[in-house]
Amino acid sequence: MGSHVTAQGDSDSRKKEDILGLNRLNERDMDVLKGIVAPERFSRGESNLDLHSRDQSKHEPSRPEAVIWPENREEVSEIMRYANEHAIPVTPWGSGSSLEGNPIPVRGGLVLDFSRMNRILDIREEDFQADVEPGLVYQDLNSSLRHKGLFFPPDPGAGATIGGMIANNASGTRTIRYGSTKDNILRLSVVLADGEIIETGTRASKTSSGYDLIHLFVGSEGTLGIVVEATVRLVGIPAEFSAAIITFPSVEAAGRAVFEIIRSGLDPASLELLDPECIELINREQDLGLEVMPTLFTEYHGTSLNQLAEVLEMTREICQGQGSNAFRKGLGREERDRLFKARHELGEMIFRAHPDCRHISLDVAVPVSAYPDIIEMAREEREKAGFPAYMFSHAGDGNLHFVIAGKRGDEEEWALIEQVNQRVVSKALSLGGTATGEHGVGIGKRKFMEAEHGKGLEWMKKIKSMFDPKGILNPGKIFP
Ligand SMILES: Cc1cc2nc3c(=O)[nH]c(=O)nc-3n(C[C@H](O)[C@H](O)[C@H](O)COP(=O)(O)OP(=O)(O)OC[C@H]3O[C@@H](n4cnc5c(N)ncnc54)[C@H](O)[C@@H]3O)c2cc1C
Repeated sequence: MGSHVTAQGDSDSRKKEDILGLNRLNERDMDVLKGIVAPERFSRGESNLDLHSRDQSKHEPSRPEAVIWPENREEVSEIMRYANEHAIPVTPWGSGSSLEGNPIPVRGGLVLDFSRMNRILDIREEDFQADVEPGLVYQDLNSSLRHKGLFFPPDPGAGATIGGMIANNASGTRTIRYGSTKDNILRLSVVLADGEIIETGTRASKTSSGYDLIHLFVGSEGTLGIVVEATVRLVGIPAEFSAAIITFPSVEAAGRAVFEIIRSGLDPASLELLDPECIELINREQDLGLEVMPTLFTEYHGTSLNQLAEVLEMTREICQGQGSNAFRKGLGREERDRLFKARHELGEMIFRAHPDCRHISLDVAVPVSAYPDIIEMAREEREKAGFPAYMFSHAGDGNLHFVIAGKRGDEEEWALIEQVNQRVVSKALSLGGTATGEHGVGIGKRKFMEAEHGKGLEWMKKIKSMFDPKGILNPGKIFP
């Protein structure tokens, strides 16, 4: 392998075909790339190009010129060395479940699909660690860990891969207790734009050694390097579970209860706030008979049912103190699963309720104290605009998801939705928050980067040009 690859420094004389100086693939490139991987792992078939042209967002699809399925880091390194030398764009691909166009190959070129690099390389139970390849779906990792009593905590759902989670710094409903992906990564092997392979981090559970390159790659959306292996942190599966669904007369009351629950040291594993529109959908699809009001879903993990029963009782008292109307509780794993099923399926319920629409999922995060303000503002926006919109959020993290359904092809409506997006993000920034709590910048949030980061954005650009001087890695993302 690799005998076809021209030596570094062999200059590329062809005319640059892109305003960024990037090239399209020519016949020779394709022959060389097919020589690096087996020909059956290189495709220019229409369906493969289509499948890798869109994620789960409303952003316009854009096809790559070819899709490659690497099987090991050496192949990735050789591909990158060649692509860098010939200024060919390369976009890494996990499951394509992003919500901001993060993996859409907007400049064409190659997509590297990691579904064949999906092995668990090592599980070290006694260290609470596993070494994994980037294409591994995190639910598959957790299935393999179950009989060992361990799990990898971040839970974005949607069949995300470890590589995609690292690149987007994904999180989910359990972040309040276990942190986001960045808190659960100890070591990375990364192929850089020019094909060099580096290791960063160690297998120690903590370190103060040097610059923290791991957290430069986490959240970089495949624009700085390609993750080919990760050491992830594992935690013990709790002995017992409990959950409660609590309704409130207002979002403000629910917001105060969130604050009091956290302050009391009760340590919830999730604390999710759903608006009445979400509850209506849930009542339509599931038999929970919930009052159509702002509703908190909370979950606790603990060592015994007695302990969790006490925690639920304290939660009830706190919520009653804030004027809660109803309190449904469940003790044990089955009851927790029953109560949380509705929360976990909410995304799909929204899609099913508006099959003729496209959806945008706003994803701002603010300090917890400012959470009622951002909800109030988003609600006013919804009332003014009048389109279907659902607010649900990881309230414990101050992370608001505001899913708006807009008619396909209705440009006027989408222009209005975009204005709402702009105003909600501006409000979040003015409250000391961020344009994206967990979905990443991708295409959709680029325009807010300057407002959020100011001069910091210039340093991000310098870092990008140091790691990827030709700009071949996932071009068109993050930067305005
Ligand atoms: C219904 C639904 C619910 C969701 N809920 C949540 C949620 O609760 N929390 C949350 O955080 N997200 C959520 N998401 C968004 C999405 O699932 C996450 O962002 C996820 O981490 C994306 O993983 P993926 O494997 O699909 O990556 P992809 O979408 O394929 O790629 C994501 C990014 O990672 C890059 N990438 C992929 N592999 C590598 C690699 N090996 N090295 C470097 N870069 C790489 C890509 O280029 C791209 O920029 C949800 C999505 C859907 C559709």
